[in-house]
Amino acid sequence: MLQNIRVVLVNTSHPGNIGGAARAMKNMGLSRLVLVDPLDFPSPEADARASGADDVLAGTQVVATLEEALVGCNLVLGTSARDRRLPWPLVDPRECGAKVIEEAAQGMEIALVFGREHAGLTNEELQRCHFHVHIPSNPDFSSLNLAAAVQVLAYEVRMAWLAVEGQAPKVQKPEASTEELATMDEMERFYEHLEKTLVEIGFLDPQKPRHLMPRLRRLYGRSSVNRSEMSILRGILTETQKVARGEPHKRKDQ
Ligand code: SAH
Repeated sequence: MLQNIRVVLVNTSHPGNIGGAARAMKNMGLSRLVLVDPLDFPSPEADARASGADDVLAGTQVVATLEEALVGCNLVLGTSARDRRLPWPLVDPRECGAKVIEEAAQGMEIALVFGREHAGLTNEELQRCHFHVHIPSNPDFSSLNLAAAVQVLAYEVRMAWLAVEGQAPKVQKPEASTEELATMDEMERFYEHLEKTLVEIGFLDPQKPRHLMPRLRRLYGRSSVNRSEMSILRGILTETQKVARGEPHKRKDQ
């Protein structure tokens, strides 16, 4: 179950933090580390701080963009030390652990995303996440060291996992909730299609987009859209485009 969980570190500047994160992960039974455009990796400093979690570092995947890191993911949780302008569904680390294990148990792919040491995650990156996780730290000194933040979340995931593992016999979830959620790449293609359609029908003004797309991302992101719902949504957009372009389209009364 823990194999379905990847830890994603975005643009990390200190290799020591990468090693520290790998160690924290291995301590808690997590093994999949993905680095988005790290400043300095591989590095002896990362190896030293990993102190024995060499296998996690050796298996680390390095990619150029967050989008690549999230390919195949059904659930993405992004961490943030601060409040952002556009409020997003927010969970604490305990709720995060429970949610991650609940979805991992259904075979879903999950990502926990962590930001840069100096600037955290950008708003755009945070808007790619279904949920935000805030560690309820001292408001006057809220930012944890990156590897320490990984440790807190990895610990909560482990606690939630241990609680589920302790339950015997395992109960099968009802059929409805086992439908596979749309992946992040499918969601991204949907958002592109949606934006294009909204421009074509004149609902979205590209010169004055306001916060329409982030708001729609937030709406669909919290809806746990599954694969069959996704094809309905894409079908609606395609038909809408045909009507807007004056092309032949499906009509119930024809
Ligand atoms: N100055 C940055 C802090 C970055 S700390 C900012 O204001 O956002 C580096 C990373 O550690 C963050 O991007 C986040 O992934 C994690 N982190 C640190 N403190 C956290 C907290 N209180 N809650 C959740 N994540 C935190």
